[in-house]
Amino acid sequence: MINIPKKIMFAISDTGGGHRSAAAAIIAAIDSEYRAQCFIVDLLRATGFPGLKQAPEIYDYCSINHIWLNNLFFRKTNSLTRINALTRMIYFQCRQHLEQELETIQPDMVVAVHPLVIGLLRMIRKNSNATWPIITVVTDLVTLHASWATPGADLYLVPTQEAFHSLVKYGVPSNRIIHTGFPIHPKFTGNQVVRSEARAELNIELDRFTVLITGGGVGAGNMREWINTLEQECSDKQILVITGNNKQLYTELMNSKNMSDRLHVYGFVSNMETMMSASDVIISKAGPGTIMEGITIKRPLIITEAVGIQETGNIGYTIQRRLGYYCPVPKAACKIINEIATKARDIDKIYHHEEIVTNGSMRIADIILDQLAGIQSMKNPPKEEPCTIFRGA
Ligand code: UDP
Repeated sequence: MINIPKKIMFAISDTGGGHRSAAAAIIAAIDSEYRAQCFIVDLLRATGFPGLKQAPEIYDYCSINHIWLNNLFFRKTNSLTRINALTRMIYFQCRQHLEQELETIQPDMVVAVHPLVIGLLRMIRKNSNATWPIITVVTDLVTLHASWATPGADLYLVPTQEAFHSLVKYGVPSNRIIHTGFPIHPKFTGNQVVRSEARAELNIELDRFTVLITGGGVGAGNMREWINTLEQECSDKQILVITGNNKQLYTELMNSKNMSDRLHVYGFVSNMETMMSASDVIISKAGPGTIMEGITIKRPLIITEAVGIQETGNIGYTIQRRLGYYCPVPKAACKIINEIATKARDIDKIYHHEEIVTNGSMRIADIILDQLAGIQSMKNPPKEEPCTIFRGA
């Protein structure tokens, strides 16, 4: 019997909520088939490098108030040459911290769920003579930063055909890329609860039309203005607000004197599947995780804006497939919502999503487990049968 090695490290950064969510989704899918020891590590924080170790806080700050800074960083670093040079510089400044992180875990495989960690992992592996394979899981749908194509990963798993072509354009050999679909947590696909059950679980009105507004892990996207307009223009609707890690917005809303009884405010939630199931419509910035989760739960999406260049392609992706609306003006969005509620707008037509893979996390888990089994069989190769598994590049 094959004894599968057990330690998998997921290298992420908590820039937004999407990278951690994707790692957690894959771990849940692996757990459903095989209990491995999985570790999620914020590798940018682990560098200890000034500026980089605060990447999550800087990302939050830029996403809420200064998107132009996010975009400037995107543009200035959007080339493999620059990313490779930056990575080398950071690695040589922080190699002790980074190598210690890997030494502590001693993984059998590393899964990169953030573009800026791929090059660091490649250098750690090379300089420590390690052989663990690196599998990259791309979490952007359409507009990929060049760093996703950083050489060094043995496989690149992508959520969409658009991402596949983008990596090929950046120079990744197509035989290293697999279209798996987006890593959506299995809790969104299995045992979906119906609206009324989800509402009962949340202890909100069972029969009232319900609008969910979320701004990703950061709580970005001008949510205050959206909430004010929703309260005025959709006053008969139940509104669920998820502020995520935006503590300022949460406190402001909780302390607001004239908040309606129909407005329910939540901070960072761990039951997004229930929140979405309880809703009739989801309003969100163009975050890939939220979009794919909304599609899986089959709720129409209202996309408010792209928070950063990397989210721009997600808007076209959603509207071309008729999965929702792009509506940057809150008042116009309220009109659409009111039409959906009175059935003046036929939303049955917008569920054309057959070609979208919603079990990406299971596919990714299968690939990871296959590769781990391959490594094991390389350690104990059957006589006469050559092994075809990839090795660390
Ligand atoms: N999320 C969550 N709780 C919250 C807010 C967000 O679990 O309170 C999750 C959400 O379900 C999704 C991810 O965080 O999986 C957000 O990812 P997305 O790509 O939409 O945006 P990001 O936060 O990465 O900018």
